[in-house]
Amino acid sequence: MTNLISHYIDGARTAGTSSRKSQVWNPALGEVAAEVVLATPADVDAAVRVARDAFEIWSQASLSRRTKIIFNFREIMNARKEELAEVISDQHGKVVSDALGEVQRGLEVVEFACGIPQLLKGEISVQVSTGVDIHSFREPLGVVAGITPFNFPAMVPMWMFPLAIAVGNTFILKPSERDPSASIMMAEMWTEAGLPPGVFNVVQGDKVAVDAILEHSGIDAVSFVGSTPIARYVHEKATAHNKRVQALGGAKNHAIIMPDADLGYVRDQLSAAAFGSAGERCMAISAAVAVGGVGKELVEELVAKAKIVRVGPGRDPASEMGPIVSPEALDRITCLIESAPRQGADIALDGRDIRVPGHEKGFFLGPTVISNVDADMDVYREEIFGPVLVALEAQNIDRAIELINANPYGNGTAIFTSSGESARRFQREVKVGMIGVNVPIPVPMAYYSFGGWKNSLFGEKHIHGPEGISFYTKAKVVTSRWPTSTNAVTAGYHFPTAE
Ligand code: NAD
Repeated sequence: MTNLISHYIDGARTAGTSSRKSQVWNPALGEVAAEVVLATPADVDAAVRVARDAFEIWSQASLSRRTKIIFNFREIMNARKEELAEVISDQHGKVVSDALGEVQRGLEVVEFACGIPQLLKGEISVQVSTGVDIHSFREPLGVVAGITPFNFPAMVPMWMFPLAIAVGNTFILKPSERDPSASIMMAEMWTEAGLPPGVFNVVQGDKVAVDAILEHSGIDAVSFVGSTPIARYVHEKATAHNKRVQALGGAKNHAIIMPDADLGYVRDQLSAAAFGSAGERCMAISAAVAVGGVGKELVEELVAKAKIVRVGPGRDPASEMGPIVSPEALDRITCLIESAPRQGADIALDGRDIRVPGHEKGFFLGPTVISNVDADMDVYREEIFGPVLVALEAQNIDRAIELINANPYGNGTAIFTSSGESARRFQREVKVGMIGVNVPIPVPMAYYSFGGWKNSLFGEKHIHGPEGISFYTKAKVVTSRWPTSTNAVTAGYHFPTAE
């Protein structure tokens, strides 16, 4: 019998009311490993009801109690991170060491959230007028939802829920239907950590569940991470339903390689950034822009390095890169590679004919390098989201920056150079949110916020870090006076001014 992955509502697994299900693949084997239930609007409503009830209790829990529970969660996840990484690898395909890395980066947000008593401190100004003080503090919003993509089934939810819960909200996670098991493991860890039932819930599903979340009047805010068309849709619909929303979208991350860069270092860094996790990272480098004539040598170096990447099942410790998540994703990437020579580019390294012994049905695609690419070609315009690096050339740094700024995405970018002046210009002129200087995947630490510009983010706030605290709370400012018989003030009909 196929394993059935359920929702997690009010502290327990539940199959909900739907008869609709979706298949969950083991991409290394090319086999269906499980099915996941797909929520109806009634299932979403059930989760919202328990989350609203739980909010009444959780928002009143003391900061010390909340901190203790988050700390317990951190300890439990830390003890079980290998198990979680294996579950991620089995459904996503990424190698276990990479899955462990995403769990670790998620745990760092949990650790940041353990500092919530410090992070939630308000401000006070005394004697702003005679006998008058002002103080401010922040309160939770209510029930917040997180809708997350397949490529980081643990880390991206952990960009959201540790802070949302730490500040006193209750949370409904709608994970990707392609790798849903990590969400249930995390829900069970919360229960074990002592989180009251209903504070963290998981609703499995597809567009039906997403629409029910966006339309539900009992949900106050939505954090979304996924592709650009869906991010735009989520932002528009959630806003129309009067919700606070942050929607992080897709990416086309460029690396500029200046002629003064160390090509050996660039080759190693770019290969890892383009082909790690089979390129299924929102911060993967997918376009290399060689400046000032270093293009030919760069492509040769990259091909030599990419050829020796060990592609295999994620559970094999010898593998450096696993399979693509699903047969549909593999088809889409393959079609895009096919379009490149038709549109005038060269396939310098072709990963399509790879064979992984013992895993013939798996969704494998080897590292692929496409050279002589220009900005009109599909392989440049589309987010490929696979192990495909396209190489372009630019006469000088001005042209390279223009190219990046003309691209509709603005998630991440990097420059490789030994010139401080080039690096300084680059970081000031480029219209992108996350910037690396000789660092190819500039995902900041948990105590900074993360997010792109342009079509990579709809909404105002970046995710986690200080902006995460701000997104999940709203401010109150209190002005107070304690009049006594000895400091009486007279009320006037003019607008009050400070004295
Ligand atoms: P996706 O947009 O297909 O799915 C994301 C979520 O939206 C999932 O939970 C899915 O169930 C839901 N969804 C899918 N189609 C929908 C529809 N028509 N209506 C309503 N909801 C829908 O994204 P994905 O393929 O799971 O993830 C990969 C994408 O996510 C890439 O574009 C990648 O760049 C992006 N991503 C961005 C970041 C970032 O920080 N900006 C981080 C990770 C991933």
